Amino acid sequence: QPQTVPAALRAAAAAHADRAAVVDGATTLSFRDLHAAVRDTARGYVALGLEPGDTVCLWAPNTWEWVVAGLAVTYAGGVLVPVNTRYKGEEVADIVERSGARLCVVADGFLGRSQVEELRTALPGMGRVTAIVSIGTTPAAGTTAFSSLPDLGAGVSGIDAIATGVGADDIADILFTSGTTGRSKGVLTTHAQTLAAARVWTQNCQVTEQDRYLVISPFFHSYGYKVGIIASVVSGCALYPMAAFDADAALAMIEAERLTIVPGAPTIFHSMLESPAFATTDTSSLRLANMGSASIPPRLIERMLSELSFELVIPAFGMTECVVATMCRPGDPDEAIATSNGRAVDGLEMRVVDPATGEVCESGTAGEIQLRGPMVMQGYLDDPEATAAAIDADGWLHTGDVGTVDADGNMRITDRLKDMYISGGFNVYPAEVEAALARLDGVVEAAVVGVPDERMGEVGKAFVIQREGADLTQEQVVAFLRERLANFKVPRHVEMVPDLPRNASHKVLKPELRARG
Ligand code: ATP
Ligand code: MG
Repeated sequence: QPQTVPAALRAAAAAHADRAAVVDGATTLSFRDLHAAVRDTARGYVALGLEPGDTVCLWAPNTWEWVVAGLAVTYAGGVLVPVNTRYKGEEVADIVERSGARLCVVADGFLGRSQVEELRTALPGMGRVTAIVSIGTTPAAGTTAFSSLPDLGAGVSGIDAIATGVGADDIADILFTSGTTGRSKGVLTTHAQTLAAARVWTQNCQVTEQDRYLVISPFFHSYGYKVGIIASVVSGCALYPMAAFDADAALAMIEAERLTIVPGAPTIFHSMLESPAFATTDTSSLRLANMGSASIPPRLIERMLSELSFELVIPAFGMTECVVATMCRPGDPDEAIATSNGRAVDGLEMRVVDPATGEVCESGTAGEIQLRGPMVMQGYLDDPEATAAAIDADGWLHTGDVGTVDADGNMRITDRLKDMYISGGFNVYPAEVEAALARLDGVVEAAVVGVPDERMGEVGKAFVIQREGADLTQEQVVAFLRERLANFKVPRHVEMVPDLPRNASHKVLKPELRARG
């Protein structure tokens, strides 16, 4: 099996030459086309001065150009640093500086902004950057057009030798965590680690070259890049990138292209089910949904099977630091799918540790989930302290997530250590309260945080989004929870809100809610 991304791409081009690799609107690239475009683009990077080991920041939405631009970085022996499309110039400048990028590839004009201008304003000297490449029809002044890279690199020889010279243990990419609990951290991963993550996911989901795969998760996130692009390269399935999520557009694509796989955060499926277009859309092609990144309401799983007509819904748990950690398996009992995040993926060791004592917990007891195996990252960019805190001397990754593992190995995530709060001496896991709230008729979604309280130390505050016309009162919400949860878990405050603050991974930003109080 190929152990580097360039080698995997060459293998895909040989095995699936004429099959579609990427379909983006009117543009279709076969695996042979993709390989050719990647080689040409990689030559262009070399002409711009890229050398093996150099980092390249890629700041663009999900399009076929991203796929080519990103894979070409690894083909030229570089390190790919995908950047969040929601970021503003200053945030990007920070990443460009921290990663010491030599090139920046930027989709100028995305969402009506000039990203190139923002970046130049925030980083006037441009750090170590020697060129900006702009994706789009009209490249910004002073930048190199992405479309001109093949011509620019026409005279560069030996690109395949550079690609072959890439080693399994070389750093392939630096993806940033979602920044849900604080400042985003850059996660260093080798080629072998990135491929291991993509392979374990495709094997678990039994992805084949027949699959047509809608990628809504942003390419700058591990779910979009490793479980998206790299998964397509290692399995030969066709990728359908979506640049900005829109439930109606997603439904239209599913019907028109007869798509089979849709991974994503639970809210994506919620939006599709709530979309007016849903009733008239044929979703019968859907085979598999894979959900992670936030807790998954069992009622949503039922609706995805019965209404969206998925054959399989596979809950999973993962993080940028190891991509996929646990997953349900096709054929697992309904009970496991409804109530757990599945078992550790093949080749990954998992244990549950009492964060107070460091002792391994008995089965069924909640503690911190720790992981060790071939997909776990090398460490964090530029942050030896955080790396030492995350990976201990024995190689265990401390996830910061609390969960339980039952006798069959099924993991059930409880919550983040950081989101837990203590009310009158009792630990409260907001996720448990949110799950209870999700069962109240009229509730679309809820988020619970701990807020300061003079008497109890902290008490819960629930932010609740209700379905249109539901007209729930705070008293009803509290009464519903009192029947189901211990008193100390019932939020003292309830606020009805039209929406919740989220990051690009669609995760609710709890620090922001806590600050609102
Ligand atoms: P940061 O580390 O910067 O605070 P983040 O942890 O949200 O951000 P990611 O790596 O994108 O960044 O997300 C991983 C986290 O998402 C996990 O540590 C876990 O808390 C949460 N998560 C993932 N899958 C699930 C799931 N199935 N259920 C609940 N939470 C999940
Ligand atoms: Mg994290």
